[in-house]
Amino acid sequence: MNSKVAVVAIGGNSLIKDKQHQTVPDQFATTRETAQHIAEMIAAGWEVIITHGNGPQVGFILLRSELSRHALHDVPLDSCGADTQGALGYMIQQCLQNEFAAREINKLAVTVVTQVVVDRLDPAFANPSKPIGPFYDEAKAAQYGAELGWRMAEDAGRGWRRVVPSPRPQRIVEIEAIRRLVREGYVVIAAGGGGIPVIEDSRGHLAGVAAVIDKDYASALLATEISADLFVISTAVEKVALHYGQPNQQWLDHLSLAEARQYLAEGHFAPGSMKPKIEAVIRFLEMGGKQALITSPEQIKRALDGQTGTWITSA
Ligand code: ADP
Ligand code: MG
Repeated sequence: MNSKVAVVAIGGNSLIKDKQHQTVPDQFATTRETAQHIAEMIAAGWEVIITHGNGPQVGFILLRSELSRHALHDVPLDSCGADTQGALGYMIQQCLQNEFAAREINKLAVTVVTQVVVDRLDPAFANPSKPIGPFYDEAKAAQYGAELGWRMAEDAGRGWRRVVPSPRPQRIVEIEAIRRLVREGYVVIAAGGGGIPVIEDSRGHLAGVAAVIDKDYASALLATEISADLFVISTAVEKVALHYGQPNQQWLDHLSLAEARQYLAEGHFAPGSMKPKIEAVIRFLEMGGKQALITSPEQIKRALDGQTGTWITSA
């Protein structure tokens, strides 16, 4: 491969701007903007593999299921993952394709429905922690707990939600197909929503499980597996900060691997948002990756020119 390969993990803000803009046409409008920034990167010579989150979109499917329970079957969580990989992949593909046409970039974007193997003995299965889908009152929560076998938990005073395990990604089933597509010059969208979690038995038989894989961890695994030159995490902030949101907040331009580990241990990165990103970056660098970048979609170009973003490097 001549050009450099980057995995770009796009966060929730690349697909949904805010609570007032959640419809599918709204998601297209937001994705169109993100596609401009990614196309810019491609025009600058990068081979790009895109991963994305799917939390809100899975939530919409689960709420639809809930509201139509009297008339229709439930959608298992692994199928929700597959549905959103397809629908969001379609959206990202088309937005990129239109951007390529406008810029006369001779590229094709393609989505790979991606299964990710998790360990059936992962401790997460004994401790479901990831809230998904609609909020319920206590009585309804108790009813579903008993009827459907769902684990329910109170979510920060806002009501009850179903919680599922969030196991670590071990292996990307379709990795060789992704590698070949990248090698052939396709812009690949893969491991959407962290991938569809599957468990594998001793004979190599796969089965979907009701779990959610963190998209930042799955993206780090993908970046490692394709030996990416760069791992970009595109999110709602231009840079990572120490003392985030406090008066003594300090934006970071650069972190060494050792500094990233130190600040993580000191608790600078919020669980569920920045912490998994820093952990994902650390893992990528520990597994041989050279550099990672955390910034917002609008700033990707400037960040690649060395003008902004938080860079984390192995040396
Ligand atoms: P995504 O959908 O991209 O995964 P998240 O909301 O999960 O986005 O994570 C990004 C958010 O992390 C930022 O919008 C910011 O509010 C939050 N955050 C927490 N700690 C920090 C920190 N130390 N520096 C910067 N942002 C932080
Ligand atoms: Mg997140």
